[in-house]
Amino acid sequence: MSNDLLDEQVCPYCGYEVGDHLSNWSDETEHVECGRCRKTYAVAAEYQFLGFKVEKMCIECGEVESECFCEEGDEQ
Ligand SMILES: [Zn+2]
Ligand SMILES: [Zn+2]
Repeated sequence: MSNDLLDEQVCPYCGYEVGDHLSNWSDETEHVECGRCRKTYAVAAEYQFLGFKVEKMCIECGEVESECFCEEGDEQ
């Protein structure tokens, strides 16, 4: 795995920093044109696989348990 990852999406030609709202947060490679030097470069976000998160779903409201606000043990 390469270690030369950047904190921000920065143009490799001119160093122009792309704002967070315009950055490619997808792990799919995208070809973008730099807003300053107009050169095209490829960018993809790299995510480290940390593991699976599994959660039970609430039968009452259909939300995952951490998002569920139904009273627990409130069976009638
Ligand atoms: Zn550039
Ligand atoms: Zn619920």
